[in-house]
Amino acid sequence: MNISRRALLAVAGAASASSLMGLPAFAADKGKVGIAMPTKSSTRWIHDGESMVAQFKAAGYDADLQYAEDDIPTQLNQIENMITSGVKALIIAAIDGTTLSNALANAAAAGIKVIAYDRLIRQSKDVDYYTTFDNFQVGVLQANSLVAGLKERFPGVKPWNIELFGGSPDDNNAFFFFDGAMSVLKPMIDAGEIAVPSGQMDMKVCGTLRWDGAVAQSRMDNLLSSNYGDKKLNGALSPYDGLSIGILSSVKGVGYGSGDMKMPVVTGQDCEIPSIKSIIAGEQYSSIFKDTRELAKVTVKMVDTVLSGGTPEVNDTKTYDNGVKVVPSYLLKPVPVDKSNWKEVLVGSGYYTEDQLK
Ligand code: BGC
Repeated sequence: MNISRRALLAVAGAASASSLMGLPAFAADKGKVGIAMPTKSSTRWIHDGESMVAQFKAAGYDADLQYAEDDIPTQLNQIENMITSGVKALIIAAIDGTTLSNALANAAAAGIKVIAYDRLIRQSKDVDYYTTFDNFQVGVLQANSLVAGLKERFPGVKPWNIELFGGSPDDNNAFFFFDGAMSVLKPMIDAGEIAVPSGQMDMKVCGTLRWDGAVAQSRMDNLLSSNYGDKKLNGALSPYDGLSIGILSSVKGVGYGSGDMKMPVVTGQDCEIPSIKSIIAGEQYSSIFKDTRELAKVTVKMVDTVLSGGTPEVNDTKTYDNGVKVVPSYLLKPVPVDKSNWKEVLVGSGYYTEDQLK
């Protein structure tokens, strides 16, 4: 037996001795919770997961955190294993919000509480609560920022030529973001202030499966080659930083951002580090900050309250109809970020250090 194994056994022995003596064990006195996150390919979900694990541990729970790399069967399998392993609550950011009904029926039968985390779980009655941001407002803020950028970078141009990108059609949020943005853009399109040269203005054609930046990049390539022979692109509505980076690569590939071809205004979401660096460099125009630490805090508090037999605080009981029921929700406020406020919002709040953004 090597030394580290010996040391581990000694620690384990001490831990079981302490619980035998009625002293608190390492954590987990309140039981285990399962946290199912969609992917590590976007840093926001890593932050969400880490914040939740830390906060659940501090509240006395053990936490099983799993990522599914955007593969639906993998996520289903992880959730089923969590149910079998005896978790008391499931916190799920679903990859496809419609595919979990059977697993959740099993969870409900076992008395497990289910929280839809950031993304609504659809077509299931077995979702107890939903914690998220005001997703319609995210879209409104994205469109407001797009319009502000058009005015700033392209004064006097009429109409402004833009293209629209939506998120993944299996994610309920994608529709809220798109609808929120269109509540601002559609009246301007109808008034002739904004044009969409491709004519593609519907989630059916603008959606981007699995939020894949490469898919957005190649769609932008096609839109440019088919519709912009004699026109210039002034802006793109992008609902997520990973798509924005793809869109920016595409436009840079045909010369935007150099010479007399000004960089189009591209929005985003999540304040991922490459996008904040791009904003600082004057390329991406804006992003939306959603403080994952706060979302984790609200969620952990909600789970702890429910598992202690209480009724958690919600602030929306009307908006999120999942096809079977309206899920009681707690919505946080999204914050728009651009070159004027990134430092104050992101560094000032301690979300990033300034060094991380250099
Ligand atoms: C989240 C966004 C995120 C997107 C892609 C959405 O459900 O609300 O914050 O940008 O998924 O991961």
